[in-house]
Amino acid sequence: MSGTAAVAERIEGLNVIAGERRPARSGATFESRNPARAAEVVGVFPRSGAEDVEDAVRAASAALPSWRRTPWPARGEIILRAAQVLERRKEEVARLMTREMGKVLTEARGDTQEAVDMGKFIAGEGRRAFGETVPSELRDKWAMTMRQPLGVVGCITPWNFPVAIPSWKIFPALMAGNTVVFKPAEDTPACALAFVEALEEAGLPAGVVNIVFGFGEDCGEAVVRHPGVRAISFTGSAEVGRHIAEVCGSMLKRSSLELGGKNAIVVLDDADVELAVDGALWGAFGTSGQRCTASSRLVVQRGAVAAFTAHLTERAARLRLGDGLVDGVEVGPVVNEKQLHRVHGYTEIGVQEGAHLVLGGEVAREGVLAEGWFYRPTIFDAVRAGMRVAQEEIFGPTTVILPVESIDEALAVANGTRYGLSASVYTRDVRRAFRAVNELEAGIVYVNAPTIGAEIQLPFGGIKDTGNGHREAGRQALDEFSEWKSIYIDYSGRLQRAQIDVE
Ligand code: NDP
Repeated sequence: MSGTAAVAERIEGLNVIAGERRPARSGATFESRNPARAAEVVGVFPRSGAEDVEDAVRAASAALPSWRRTPWPARGEIILRAAQVLERRKEEVARLMTREMGKVLTEARGDTQEAVDMGKFIAGEGRRAFGETVPSELRDKWAMTMRQPLGVVGCITPWNFPVAIPSWKIFPALMAGNTVVFKPAEDTPACALAFVEALEEAGLPAGVVNIVFGFGEDCGEAVVRHPGVRAISFTGSAEVGRHIAEVCGSMLKRSSLELGGKNAIVVLDDADVELAVDGALWGAFGTSGQRCTASSRLVVQRGAVAAFTAHLTERAARLRLGDGLVDGVEVGPVVNEKQLHRVHGYTEIGVQEGAHLVLGGEVAREGVLAEGWFYRPTIFDAVRAGMRVAQEEIFGPTTVILPVESIDEALAVANGTRYGLSASVYTRDVRRAFRAVNELEAGIVYVNAPTIGAEIQLPFGGIKDTGNGHREAGRQALDEFSEWKSIYIDYSGRLQRAQIDVE
């Protein structure tokens, strides 16, 4: 991990193509900056274009025949070693992450740990990757399936989980025998490089994973449109995801999309209100609300509204903002200036819509906070389900309280958005809990816990506009990156016709 060894140093990052460090062919570069201190440059990276993507796809194609022939358990061993490298370097990677995208150190450690967990889990598929053996309708004939890689796959990732999300995509892609062109978010190139360096240290052959740094509109677009890339795995905004799906559709290319959410915590009037407040605080303001699973809507039954709102507001007002590397800081900055304006823009929208602002709603500028992109934890109450602040993904430390009369109304409101990633219910009544589990329209449902907290051994993904039906993590992770091959072996020594020569 040469480039990222000392957290305070300025990283001179280069693309990794065919195992070599290369600048962009154009020579162009861009900077990654610390959102807690915007003047601080974390690193300088190549601003790659289509010609660099061409080199990366060529390298990935050249590495493919040997990698796909490498036995599954041997591929698993390399992935396991990469997870162990990340585990050993967890503190270093976490500190780099806090510096590069702002989440507080405890959460940055969790992000890195998720990649460790993912690597260890998926490496085990090297000795499983089960197919099926089924009976044939004919004598002396065998029928079975096996997984095959897709080929070269493109992984395009966001900045909010800059090590975990690449691991969710790249580890299973490699396990299934694909080679990879990786385009990370322009806000977190150093974290992405740290991840690729762990794979290199683990002994991954040159060209199997190639990283091209750059911007979505040129570098990312070139990965998506390259005919040599057989599939795109993307996490990010609904807008870009829709565009990628259109391009991939026209090229008959597979795309798997994870596009965020407007996740609701439902608090019923029999709930443990303090527990629900704990959950809402963590779910809404962790990672400064910049999670696809953030608890951005709090649907509260009338009997619990007053106590819930008062306690949540009082606790949120005490959250300590600051540089995530400083002990005791609970909420870091948002990732960049554009995101700060976007979040504040939604505060203005909420006020115009007639929602009641009970906390925050402003940029934090006192003392050292003025050096970065800090936004105060923000709560609206008396929000109605149709308001834009209750429908659109804000992706910042803003949450909205929607009062409801009954469980029927709570479920209708919770389900009344275009997204369907994560949802949760707080209740002490097992009948109401199971009803909510069954009826909440989401890929992930929690009982008496907030909308965040997924573990890598279960599938992760959503319904409706959150994606296009794929799941990451869990045993299902391999589905995204493999094709099934059906194999028939006839050892009868004569022509046997299916459906015709049956007994
Ligand atoms: P984007 O969807 O723009 O970015 C996600 C990734 O896609 C980045 O690597 C980006 O590159 C890349 N990209 C952008 N345009 C293209 C393109 N035309 N072709 C290929 N790749 C492309 O999200 P943003 O970072 O701009 O965030 C905007 C909003 O998206 C947030 O406010 C939030 O609402 C949502 N979001 C949701 C996430 C989730 O977890 N579901 C994660 C991040 C954002 P580059 O970084 O250079 O732009």
